[in-house]
Amino acid sequence: MTTMTCIRPEKLDEAVDFLHHHGPDTHILAGGTDLMVDLRSGKHHRPYLLDTSRIDSLKTVQINDDLTRLHIGSGVTLTRINTLPLIRDHAPALHKCSFTFASRQIRNMATIGGNVAHASPCGDTIPPLVIHEAAAVVASKDGSRTIPLLEMNKGAYQSVLHPEDLVVTFILQARQPGFSDFQKIGRRKALATSRMSMAVMADKDDQGRISFIRFSLGACTPTPQRMHDVESLFTGKIPSVKLINQGAGLLAEKMVEITGRRPSITYKEPAVQGLFKRMIYPMVTWCRQ
Ligand SMILES: Cc1cc2nc3c(=O)[nH]c(=O)nc-3n(C[C@H](O)[C@H](O)[C@H](O)COP(=O)(O)OP(=O)(O)OC[C@H]3O[C@@H](n4cnc5c(N)ncnc54)[C@H](O)[C@@H]3O)c2cc1C
Repeated sequence: MTTMTCIRPEKLDEAVDFLHHHGPDTHILAGGTDLMVDLRSGKHHRPYLLDTSRIDSLKTVQINDDLTRLHIGSGVTLTRINTLPLIRDHAPALHKCSFTFASRQIRNMATIGGNVAHASPCGDTIPPLVIHEAAAVVASKDGSRTIPLLEMNKGAYQSVLHPEDLVVTFILQARQPGFSDFQKIGRRKALATSRMSMAVMADKDDQGRISFIRFSLGACTPTPQRMHDVESLFTGKIPSVKLINQGAGLLAEKMVEITGRRPSITYKEPAVQGLFKRMIYPMVTWCRQ
């Protein structure tokens, strides 16, 4: 039997100081919904467990006075993402992803910081964070630094975080877009990790043309992707069925460019197009309103 020592600091400084001295020997524990699964499977045993759940400063959600930046603490649970009006109003795709995230029990424990730091390609909060051009603020004994979400992962389950790093907060470009959505496909309807996920936010001008759009693809690529080509295709145009079909084809093409032609592509190529169409078709009506 292996033993572990659990440390439960209440102050951020104490946690950072502990990681400075014992980082490579420590697992950071937030909600434990990924970490406990990994530890039970016998993966990477380390002697210390740093439980961050008592550090209140990791649980704050704030927007700055001019409403341009939303700060979400790494210890904010998916249940709070699901219930906070500030997140619903200023990051609606992130709010939506919390409805299909695992189960209520998991959402009560799972944190946004753990979801990102685990660096799983299928982390559901990642595409919504990417469309808000979010960045993680990371603390270590050397001070704090900011890592854009798109630079957070080197590959599947490989983040750029060092063992001494603690993710403190995420800074999102806050926006109340006219159109926004998150969609995912899993193996089953409930308690399913994503096989494919995507998030979009868009605005239109007074003639119904797309004036602003950000689109991100998750789960089916090793690292999260912002799909600039798809965004460019839609910008300045009034969405139509023809344009959406064209966008779906372009998205599938770009996905294959990233992943290569693996056996699963027979399923993924039509699936990514279907999911994209399901998400974007309502834009046709919205642009005509
Ligand atoms: C049954 C089940 C269903 C699930 N369904 C979904 C789903 O639908 N969608 C989805 O995206 N995920 C799902 N997950 C995965 C998991 O719940 C999420 O990834 C969750 O957000 C992880 O957060 P946590 O707080 O539990 O992290 P933990 O398990 O505590 O930590 C995860 C990793 O992040 C590191 N970490 C945590 N906090 C920090 C920090 N502040 N700084 C640096 N590193 C840190 C830990 O050391 C660990 O390596 C599911 C898991 C289970 C068991």
